[in-house]
Amino acid sequence: MLADKIKKIKVADYQSIPVVVNESVSVYDAIVTMFLEDVGTLFVIDNDSLLVGVLSRKDLLRASIGKQELRSIPVNIIMTRMPNITMCYKDDLLIEVAQRLIEKQIDAMPVVKKTEKGYEVVGRITKTNMTKAFVDLAKDDLI
Ligand code: ADP
Repeated sequence: MLADKIKKIKVADYQSIPVVVNESVSVYDAIVTMFLEDVGTLFVIDNDSLLVGVLSRKDLLRASIGKQELRSIPVNIIMTRMPNITMCYKDDLLIEVAQRLIEKQIDAMPVVKKTEKGYEVVGRITKTNMTKAFVDLAKDDLI
């Protein structure tokens, strides 16, 4: 049954490679990274490679309006920060993560691994990954 099949799909089956920036990089450099890496969400890490924040396109646009010093403002001033980050684990069910994206009205979340010191970013899951899963299910001729 389709519902049973959906409930077996894990985040690990569809996650992408995360794009991360250090919390000390400038807003300007984060914008350049977002373009070069062709992603809509960047994850921000500290010097221990632990997750400290999230940057969306709108965060960067908002910071850009009317500000001249984009090269000197670090991203940790404008990012959404811990503990307010919605994240998931590679073993989570994809359908539950999809529900969380909708509830929180966000486009992406980091796939993390918990360590003693904090959370390491191991992947990225986005609405695009969800679309791909949806198409794969249709290809399986189950719909
Ligand atoms: P956009 O701003 O490009 O529409 P989002 O809808 O994903 O992208 O982001 C909306 C807001 O939610 C932004 O301020 C962003 O920092 C924040 N945000 C995005 N992803 C997450 C997340 N996984 N956890 C917490 N906040 C997030």
